[in-house]
Amino acid sequence: MVVVVGGGASGLGTAWDLLLRGIPVTVVEAEDIGRGTSGRFHGLLHSGGRYVVSDPRSARECREENDILRRIAPSAIEPTGGYFVGVGDQDTSYIDEWLKGADQAGIPVRPVSRKELEEKVPGIRRESHAAYFVPDGVLEGFTLLTLLKDNIEKAGGTILPNTRLEAVRHTNGRVSGVSVSTRNGVLDINCNVVVNAAGPWASDVAHLFDDGFSMQRAAGMMLIFANRMVPQVVNRLAPPGDGDIFVPHGETVILGTTDVPQDSPEAPVPTRAEARRLLALGSELFPAIESWRVLRAFCGVRPLFQKDVRDVKSRYVSRDFSVIDHGARHGLEGAFSLVGGKWTTYRLMAESVGDEVCMYLGVDTASITASTALSPVNRPGPAGGPLVCECEGVTRDSLASRMDWSVDDWRTGTWFAMGPCQGTMCAHRAIALRTPRYGPEHTLGELARLREERDKGMWPVAWGDNAREAVFNRAVRFQTLAEEAGSDEWE
Ligand SMILES: Cc1cc2nc3c(=O)[nH]c(=O)nc-3n(C[C@H](O)[C@H](O)[C@H](O)COP(=O)(O)OP(=O)(O)OC[C@H]3O[C@@H](n4cnc5c(N)ncnc54)[C@H](O)[C@@H]3O)c2cc1C
Repeated sequence: MVVVVGGGASGLGTAWDLLLRGIPVTVVEAEDIGRGTSGRFHGLLHSGGRYVVSDPRSARECREENDILRRIAPSAIEPTGGYFVGVGDQDTSYIDEWLKGADQAGIPVRPVSRKELEEKVPGIRRESHAAYFVPDGVLEGFTLLTLLKDNIEKAGGTILPNTRLEAVRHTNGRVSGVSVSTRNGVLDINCNVVVNAAGPWASDVAHLFDDGFSMQRAAGMMLIFANRMVPQVVNRLAPPGDGDIFVPHGETVILGTTDVPQDSPEAPVPTRAEARRLLALGSELFPAIESWRVLRAFCGVRPLFQKDVRDVKSRYVSRDFSVIDHGARHGLEGAFSLVGGKWTTYRLMAESVGDEVCMYLGVDTASITASTALSPVNRPGPAGGPLVCECEGVTRDSLASRMDWSVDDWRTGTWFAMGPCQGTMCAHRAIALRTPRYGPEHTLGELARLREERDKGMWPVAWGDNAREAVFNRAVRFQTLAEEAGSDEWE
């Protein structure tokens, strides 16, 4: 039995890989599925175009995984395609290098005429001097996490949310079990392998393996705009930098990202200064961006492993992610860590750690995730009754039929409270549905946390229409929940 720590893309991907090889798996997730970076990313299904010059190996991996994900999880991918657009007085030698790199990585690149660019990407800077089309796409992270979760459970795997790894038990230097804390107390689970897929928390978990390592963490901020102003992915054709990618999601578009080193694994609260800087960078591609309505800002944390030669197992696959066999580094045998990478390459990462686990267990079964489609989620659920969330069209019955979900799962599973009003109107109505089952004390806490979380993302971008919405949101929040704002918060 294998215990996987972390319910993000890496953890669920690993569980699915191992289950398909016939190995029983339990996933323990400290909070809700997708609570870490996998629920706080940009949503780009990389074609590899971004990395052809800086990291050709990663570019090839993205190219291959992009193809695979389109085949195995089509319902989680929007195959929009993407443009790389050159703007400003850029050195054209980078474009030559980029075209050469794309060719070597096998990324199909089509030159785009100015006429096509202006037709397909309205609002793009007129002075742009080069444009190419690549197979970028949109990766719906929450949809893919739900697909993985459902397929894992259907295949007999166990997923335990609100379950935190606290300790690893061992016998003669080999893993023999774990202790986890749950809402009902501490639980012991017997297992002979632990896979640490805890994203930005991975170095904390590794300390439980008697073999710590250090990580570089960097926070990235993104801005969500209220309308789909950009119908396809648009990248700036330049060495990867800040604020150089637009990714459409449903009726919105996300601009990102930044890269600020930090010590904590927790996503920081976005700041207004960084939001303004992101907007200024975005205006290089879309000059009218200041007039677009911003919905909110949010941050995620990149988990990067600090490598040295000793650190990485011999079967090292990518420079972008690392599989660490702690037994081989004189830590616990049967303990593995999977660190770094991208959402786009989660399947390859899972296959790589799966190979190591199988070698340790003496299981001679190859990974089949690349050729096994994830069965679509079959959860029609009643959708009738009055509208609860007007922005996203979520009805009372669609929430009430998922009463055992957490509020966060309601939000990411139905999109309630994610539209222009950010829950100002619907949060109270939605949470009230839960009160008969969970009691007023519990659900008032849920309401306060939801409103506070939405507020954190709105306030740093409170200008124009969004300032009116943010102030209204606060007035409703503080009046109905009898809360008070700190005086500095209203500056
Ligand atoms: C700003 C930003 C933008 C990005 N954009 C893109 C993009 O457009 N395209 C792309 O392909 N990639 C992108 N990425 C990268 C991608 O999002 C991450 O590589 C990926 O989501 C990491 O997933 P993970 O499962 O490793 O970590 P996480 O999703 O963080 O999962 C780790 C989980 O472990 C849990 N955990 C921690 N400690 C414990 C414990 N003790 N016990 C139990 N559970 C625990 C946490 O609660 C968490 O849910 C982006 C990253 C960032 C930061």
